[in-house]
Amino acid sequence: MLDLPVIQDRDSAPAATGIEHTGAGRKLYVETYGCQMNLNDSEIVQAIMNEEGYAHTTTPDDADVILLNTCAIRDNAERRIRERLKHLRYYKKRKSSLVVGILGCMAERLRQRLLDQEQLVDLVVGPDEYRRVPALVADAAGGGKGIAVQLSRVETYDDIVPLRTEGISAWVSVMRGCDKFCTFCVVPWTRGRERSRALTSVVEEAGRLWDDGFKELTLLGQNVNSYKDEASAADFPDLLAACAAAVPGMRIRYTTSHPYDMSDKLIETMAAYDNICKYIHLPVQSGSDRILGLMNRKYSVEHYLERMAKIKELMPGCALSTDIITGFPTETEEDHRMTMELMAQVRYDGAFMFKYSPRERTRAWKMGDDVPDEIKTRRLNEVIAQQQEIAAEINQQAIGSTEVALVEGPSKRNPAEWQGRSDTNKVVIFPHNEQSDYVVGDTIRVRIERSTSATLFGEVVAA
Ligand code: SF4
Repeated sequence: MLDLPVIQDRDSAPAATGIEHTGAGRKLYVETYGCQMNLNDSEIVQAIMNEEGYAHTTTPDDADVILLNTCAIRDNAERRIRERLKHLRYYKKRKSSLVVGILGCMAERLRQRLLDQEQLVDLVVGPDEYRRVPALVADAAGGGKGIAVQLSRVETYDDIVPLRTEGISAWVSVMRGCDKFCTFCVVPWTRGRERSRALTSVVEEAGRLWDDGFKELTLLGQNVNSYKDEASAADFPDLLAACAAAVPGMRIRYTTSHPYDMSDKLIETMAAYDNICKYIHLPVQSGSDRILGLMNRKYSVEHYLERMAKIKELMPGCALSTDIITGFPTETEEDHRMTMELMAQVRYDGAFMFKYSPRERTRAWKMGDDVPDEIKTRRLNEVIAQQQEIAAEINQQAIGSTEVALVEGPSKRNPAEWQGRSDTNKVVIFPHNEQSDYVVGDTIRVRIERSTSATLFGEVVAA
């Protein structure tokens, strides 16, 4: 029996702060951990605080308020935050009026315990209560401790324009929460039930982003393809098509999908629009039906492979990536071999690969953690080694071809080179000098001359 988290309906308007512009003359510093949803949530929190008069600062040195937007997906994500809090003690010592707050999934998962365990922390706010941050910060500035961790069935922050500071790529959350209840995952507990924004508000936001100079947008959701606009009954393929048609010059991406909802309609919609990028991230987690059953993933290996075949049939050349967990409770060498086999059969362009990390409150937590850590690690290393080999082979095949890259700016490694991203979400590196006639945000053609498992290198060719 699932002990579901307590959920209150909160269709009321945001809690009135009652105090005018509590942030006037004060500076806010936000640090974001975890997934793209958190990146977008931090932009939403900054918009809410900006409305209250807070200015944004990019360093904790001159901050009056420090907010950490956290992840709880694995144990080490939370350990990182605890370490970070130790460093922030220095700022609190320097400025006793400094307010420190924890947002996001770790706040929602630990709740009051976080306030009890971390003295430095003044407020704990879950992903559905960000409208209350200004009031809680004002209370904390007065010496109070605040907590707001109720989950909502309706909150989507639909009316808030995220405060995006810079760039050519924007994240746009189109739905929140997840109803899948995979047994290893905390998201349904930290993000609540699925609810979607209105299709019209997402399409309007896409139009605004294009007008503001953004060239690419990524539609976000924990389980984005179970999007459903209650008012218009539009589903995710409808939303994708509406965005692609509304801003034909803009690249459209989306993440994260669930194989259960990867419909023919979605694949056909992607194939029908040139500006919907030909890249799909479809987490499989394991290649063993027995383990998929224990994970409550709701699909079989056969179903998954059939979806992969459909994607390759309608969009040859579409890039694919996935998530893999090694060492799930009771995983045998045979289960592991089946995972390796599936990955060798699909041949992913990329993958996010992790050892199983038991999470309290999840159903898998009750299954115990019986795979020894050294075996988890050995299996993980085997998965990573095979995946890198496959990715290197796939990228090698791109040598001699021409990729269309969206220019992002200087490469992280070599100032004489710039980088961009291909339609298939590959990093492309190319030379840059005074004579270069392209700028950030341009799409350019690059003839690929060299490759690694993660990157393509080439020369810019005329349009
Ligand atoms: S679909 Fe994704 S977010 Fe939802 S429970 Fe499963 S793993 Fe977690």
